[in-house]
Amino acid sequence: MVKWTPGDLCPQCDPMTGKPARIEYSVRISPRAKRVTLKFSPPGELVVVIPRGFKKERIAALIEERRTWIEKAFSKVLTSWATKEDVMPAAGFFLPSIGRSFVLEESNVLPRIRALAEEYIVPMGWNIADETGRRPGKFSIRNQKSLWGSCSSKNMINLNQKLLFLEPYLVRYVILHELCHIEHRDHSTRFWTSLRDLDPFCLTHRRELRSAQWTIPAWAY
Ligand SMILES: [Zn+2]
Repeated sequence: MVKWTPGDLCPQCDPMTGKPARIEYSVRISPRAKRVTLKFSPPGELVVVIPRGFKKERIAALIEERRTWIEKAFSKVLTSWATKEDVMPAAGFFLPSIGRSFVLEESNVLPRIRALAEEYIVPMGWNIADETGRRPGKFSIRNQKSLWGSCSSKNMINLNQKLLFLEPYLVRYVILHELCHIEHRDHSTRFWTSLRDLDPFCLTHRRELRSAQWTIPAWAY
């Protein structure tokens, strides 16, 4: 698996052979997927999501078919990575979710981010839960790679510690989204209707959240 890091060039072709570069990807089987989808998961990994029963041998051809799109998307991703601050600033880092700056040290950055999320994001969760009258069993902080949040069958809500790097209204969207899963386990129309009652702009927020993932600094992973 090739990990794309800021500063890497997207190889359009293999410099040794001149042939188109091999596109590295990982495969995820999703029981809910109805068709094959390609996703870029930070920090810069191509994930091929396939429905259950889809023959893995077909993936290589599918990747080739979509090569131009993938390469274009990769360079877009890399541009956004290259332009953002990926060196931990010594003077302190501003966390939009709580509107404050913190000095983070490279040696214990992940535990520190987790502790800050426990301190600030979890109470945010409980406040929003009180406001909506939907109470989960617990809010826990995790450092998931690709999920912003999840809600278990026992109504335990996990929130990603990287939410700290988002604007408060997007953190709120994620929390409301998970709270709605207490009542609706899927992403059915009923789920979205219930979420829209709490957040009338939920669809816009969902879209913004997708692009916001690329604003998370590389050192926070
Ligand atoms: Zn959901």
